[in-house]
Amino acid sequence: MKVAFFDRDGTIIEDYPDHEWTYIKKPVFLPDSIETLKSVKEKGYEIIIITNQYLLNEGFILMEQYKEITEMMLNELALHGIEVLDIFYCPHKRNEGCTCIKPQTGMIMDALKKYPDININKSFMVGDSPVDIELTINMKMQGFGIGVGSTYCNDNIYEIKSIKDLPAYI
Ligand SMILES: [Mg+2]
Ligand SMILES: [Zn+2]
Repeated sequence: MKVAFFDRDGTIIEDYPDHEWTYIKKPVFLPDSIETLKSVKEKGYEIIIITNQYLLNEGFILMEQYKEITEMMLNELALHGIEVLDIFYCPHKRNEGCTCIKPQTGMIMDALKKYPDININKSFMVGDSPVDIELTINMKMQGFGIGVGSTYCNDNIYEIKSIKDLPAYI
């Protein structure tokens, strides 16, 4: 099975400064993200979301809020016929020393444990932050960084200007 690993905030839905997340009640989809996820599915990839949510343990949002926003996002995607295979999130504080916060590889390693038939060499990660790209480097995977600059680019890492550029590469 080939998997498209997606970051959530700033990649699929709108991201905000940490303190603003406290007041966010529903997800706002970024332009072209739904169409892109659909196209990725049509190309035979399963979708797994990999998201840092230090907002939880650092006290910016409650677990209930995280779960509600996630559920609303999944419902909206389902309305467009897009099924997300799984979501892995890291709730830990940035200084908590966990092994799952991106760019650490814990969440993808957990996904590989849960879904042993994932072919990591045919999979990729896409995100809008340097930690997403550093994660793909740590995993030796193909990666796409949205507007992250060309610093990281090599044979396996591409910068794309917008999420809608992704399908042309895969
Ligand atoms: Mg992000
Ligand atoms: Zn963690």
